[in-house]
Amino acid sequence: MPINSVTHLECSLCSRNYEAGKPWNLCECGGPLLVRYDLARLRQSWSLDSFAAAPDSMWRYAPALPVRQETSIVSLGEGMTPLLAAARTARRIGARDLLIKDEGLNPTGSFKARGLSCAISMCVELGIRKVAIPSAGNAASALAAYAAAAGLEAHIYMPADVPQSNFIECKAYGANVTLVDGLISDCGRIVAERAPKEGWFDVSTLKEPYRIEGKKTMGYEIAEQLGWELPHAILYPAGGGVGLIGMWKAFAEMEALGWIGAHRPKMIAVQAEGCQPVVRAFEAGAESCTFWENAATLASGLRVPKPLGDVLMLRAVRESAGTAIAICDSDLLDAGIRLASEEGIFVAPEGAACVAAAEKLLAQGFLKPDDKIVIYNTGSGLKYLEAYSTRFPRNIASDTDKLGGLITPR
Ligand SMILES: *Cc1c(COP(=O)(O)O)cnc(C)c1O
Ligand SMILES: [Zn+2]
Repeated sequence: MPINSVTHLECSLCSRNYEAGKPWNLCECGGPLLVRYDLARLRQSWSLDSFAAAPDSMWRYAPALPVRQETSIVSLGEGMTPLLAAARTARRIGARDLLIKDEGLNPTGSFKARGLSCAISMCVELGIRKVAIPSAGNAASALAAYAAAAGLEAHIYMPADVPQSNFIECKAYGANVTLVDGLISDCGRIVAERAPKEGWFDVSTLKEPYRIEGKKTMGYEIAEQLGWELPHAILYPAGGGVGLIGMWKAFAEMEALGWIGAHRPKMIAVQAEGCQPVVRAFEAGAESCTFWENAATLASGLRVPKPLGDVLMLRAVRESAGTAIAICDSDLLDAGIRLASEEGIFVAPEGAACVAAAEKLLAQGFLKPDDKIVIYNTGSGLKYLEAYSTRFPRNIASDTDKLGGLITPR
């Protein structure tokens, strides 16, 4: 494999350049920084043949990732998740070719592993020893795991009502956890205040340039798994929207590498009714989002009232002729349970929202029966037992066979 070809970092809003190989957060103008590569040169040395011998993780795309020395890589086996055909669900909702990209099989049970594997690897490379993160849940778990693997000190700020799985994972991985009576936006403010005083590196998504690089591997991977032909539509549960922006970046890079053509999938941002700033901005024709007051949804990864990458996300959705759609909590839970019983795939509420959205968009005619549709299930349903337990209260009297009552083995 050729070594990577990072040239510099570039502000996504004002295009100002920053030197690679140094710790950076946001641009002076407040814009997120993106990593740029010498793709023309990389095209000469990196070919599709190399994948036969490449690692069975997202690090198979290392030439287009920011890490310069292989020894910096902190990996727990993230990426190369299965792309599963969902034939029964497809038949029911009127699609011929419905695929589920199951990111729930990643380390720590969500796609956040990709971003944090990359970000923590860069911390190792840049000599950063202490990291801090505001998180709605899964980013905290992933940060805690990769920080533990790298031997870094981790400081986590998350909402007090974060799913139990996220809280317990962070504690088990040995992170310093602070519960905040508020949302990820409040946690972000606290980390921004404390990080400089404490000497912590702030790994808030898009406030550091490398999590998105890890997430973009979802774009490379879907292309590879589909034989370098992108699908017609991608449904993605958008909180910060970084996975969507990352895939969009990956598609442009792959085109520059000569691996795909100009065709792009319709990028569909799926949100929860109780927190849908992207849907509102999309429908209003706005370039950016306004803060969503009183954000509430059990799909905790979607509880992001004002995404930092809103401009980039809205741009990608529009350029792709995609759309944005919101699903209510009750419908997304129903969709998750139905999918589990039809396909044997137990998805996070965020992924479940995309299943419900696909059904709606097919019914409305926005998606066509012949479209190849890929749904991103960003996390495992196992991380959301409180949410699903509202549908399955345990009842000794009814959860038994016809004998009634608890069966006591002799
Ligand atoms: C964080 C998260 C999301 C939102 O991801 P973004 O790429 O920031 O939009 C969706 N689903 C799950 C399970 C998450 O943990
Ligand atoms: Zn800028």
